[in-house]
Amino acid sequence: MSIKVIVWGENVHDQENQVVADLYPKGMHTCIANNLNSDTGIEASTAVLQDPEHGLSQERLVNTDVLLWWGHAAHGEVSDEVVERVANAVLGGMGLIVLHSGHFSKIFKRLMGTPCNLTWREAGERERLWVASRNHPIVKGIPDHFELEYEEMYGEPFGIPEPLETVLISWFQGGEVFRSGVTYKRGAGNVFYFRPGHETYPTYHDENVKTVLLNAVKWAYNEQPRIMNPNDAPNVPVEQALEPIVERGPKLHVDGELGFK
Ligand code: ZN
Repeated sequence: MSIKVIVWGENVHDQENQVVADLYPKGMHTCIANNLNSDTGIEASTAVLQDPEHGLSQERLVNTDVLLWWGHAAHGEVSDEVVERVANAVLGGMGLIVLHSGHFSKIFKRLMGTPCNLTWREAGERERLWVASRNHPIVKGIPDHFELEYEEMYGEPFGIPEPLETVLISWFQGGEVFRSGVTYKRGAGNVFYFRPGHETYPTYHDENVKTVLLNAVKWAYNEQPRIMNPNDAPNVPVEQALEPIVERGPKLHVDGELGFK
């Protein structure tokens, strides 16, 4: 059984900017999906902002193990309803990999709960990524460091919650550093943020980047059945307690009520 993946692309600059179109003739999402499909254990399809429901219907999400998200120019055009749907899928166990400028996407900010802001500069600088967590499955086959000759700079402070793990750290030619590969657990879902991927550079053609993405999909995959109601907060009545207890003390709630949310 293969890991079912959706690569979600905003697909705006891919259509409007000639440099991006030349680097990624079928869109960045297609390039990323083609790389993932080179692994027989992965079955990747694509979805774009312009699709009905942005290509992320409930039916499709239920059958998706890992979602990759690339967005930049049109975060505000993503429907809040779809964002909540994706958030619930992640809380229920779907893996999520957020790429580059997706740090400002609604879904990443929703799951992080922090501004996710950073410093930046578009000057075609060399980026050197260092493996900060040796033997982490996401960096399997990656040397202790690798370089991308042309990248946009993202610098600290990065307004994220303290990560579960910092897997990669970047240095940029201008001197800044950045936590460029970080993991989180949100509910039952594994979340990975991976920094490189500015659309005017050939980043998604880079072999090390391709390897990180293949590894990240396998790491994010949760083989347990999806939790369909991750926000439930059920009341356990006295008579269902595992050990016999007698109800006592003042009471705020009425028996059988749903409680406050
Ligand atoms: Zn960028």
